[in-house]
Amino acid sequence: LFLTLEGGDGSGKTTQAELLEQWFTAEGRTVVRTREPGGTDVGLEVREIVLHHRGDIAPRAEALLYAADRAHHVATVVRPALARGEVVVQDRYIDSSVAYQGAGRVLDAREVRSISEWATEGLVPDLTILLDLPSEVARRRLDGARTRYDRLEAEAAEFHGRVREAYLALAAAEPDRFLVVDAALPVDDIHDRIRARVETLA
Ligand code: C5P
Ligand code: MG
Repeated sequence: LFLTLEGGDGSGKTTQAELLEQWFTAEGRTVVRTREPGGTDVGLEVREIVLHHRGDIAPRAEALLYAADRAHHVATVVRPALARGEVVVQDRYIDSSVAYQGAGRVLDAREVRSISEWATEGLVPDLTILLDLPSEVARRRLDGARTRYDRLEAEAAEFHGRVREAYLALAAAEPDRFLVVDAALPVDDIHDRIRARVETLA
């Protein structure tokens, strides 16, 4: 079972990934909780490059670096775990690239997607959970726990507006793959909604 979490910075993906992992583990499943970019040693180095040079890297180079991270991660972590019958709970996947490098950096969304489809040999999640949060709410949340990678600080709210709209459009185009949850709900309510959907798969 391959589950991915998507959404803007500060939407609560990591928290929900942890809760999902705990739930699956209590159900007796083996879970691999991982993330992109940076789910492997190679990926951590790629993550350093893209995050260190954000804003001054050519958009196509950025898109290829995310795809390179993804190729290595899928080949060495995700596919082997799925082959062992494990549950992969992953923070960010191809939809992040379509939203951030596509809508955010204004590259062609189909081209961005096709690079990642090649990189992953077409691996599609069983379910993608979109934690949808207006960027003003995300900004307020992140004020409490700011990181040096906080794009909300560095860049215009307009960027986040484009990313959010792109995510919502992706979800609308593939309603069977996506579950959209209002990320402003209480943490436990969000988890309950996610679990209700996951139970129909597992
Ligand atoms: O989710 P995480 O905090 O690991 O993401 C790190 C940063 O990289 C975030 O600010 C996110 O906006 C950005 N990112 C991106 N394009 C991706 C994935 C992440 O710009 N494909
Ligand atoms: Mg996170």
